[in-house]
Amino acid sequence: MSLSLLASQLNEAFPRLSAVQRLERACATASGRLVFTTSFGVEDQALTHLIAEAGLPIEIVTLDTGRLFPQTYDVWRATEARYGLRVRALYPEREALEALVARQGVNGFYESAANRQACCGVRKVAPLARALEGAQVWVTGLRGSQSGHRAGMDYAGFDAARGLLKVNPLLDWTREETADFCARHDAPVNALHAQGFPSIGCAPCTRAVAPGEDERAGRWWWETSDKECGLHVDAQGRFVRAAAPGQGGAKGLVDS
Ligand code: SF4
Repeated sequence: MSLSLLASQLNEAFPRLSAVQRLERACATASGRLVFTTSFGVEDQALTHLIAEAGLPIEIVTLDTGRLFPQTYDVWRATEARYGLRVRALYPEREALEALVARQGVNGFYESAANRQACCGVRKVAPLARALEGAQVWVTGLRGSQSGHRAGMDYAGFDAARGLLKVNPLLDWTREETADFCARHDAPVNALHAQGFPSIGCAPCTRAVAPGEDERAGRWWWETSDKECGLHVDAQGRFVRAAAPGQGGAKGLVDS
């Protein structure tokens, strides 16, 4: 069965299933490797809990950009201790990173969108490509209510650029439900969430948000357009955003 057809079937079935049942369905239908990419945000912690407790055959990986908050390393360590597992860490290639810093300076990403995308390219996108090499299914913690850009996403989609099935089991969860789930199940959470950081990426590129602001307003807050890091692209490899409901177009293809 083609991955596009598989995505359609999962989209049909997922609304009736719990999050763990969605993960189990993805495992049951996949004939290849499943990879879950975590950045240790509250959504990812809920998914890690579900995967670990159910003993699902999904590889848990993270992209260590080298610029993460100390609190992120703390929750990473706490997660491994809580569930007795090791998260596979992917790092930027040394030569590419050295060339990037030589070219644009250590914080060159503040100077232009092109510089910022180049930094994300070396520190995130290239390691992600290695993490997903040979995988058939990519599991993410994306939620539809995280931002206007994510509101039009599907539960599952064929990522033609990477040739795999992308699955978002928490698509319909609210932030409150996700935080409550982690609290009830004693899943470790990043201490920054309680300090006004609903979305946590690299330290120099993430700030707290004000009440009423979009959950992701604190990411690359100095930029006014194309706030994409390239992890989520369309079939042609372009950075795109989900279409508004009713407008059609690409869905589930935004930044993480
Ligand atoms: S989020 Fe900032 S520091 Fe992290 S990879 Fe992107 S530009 Fe670089």
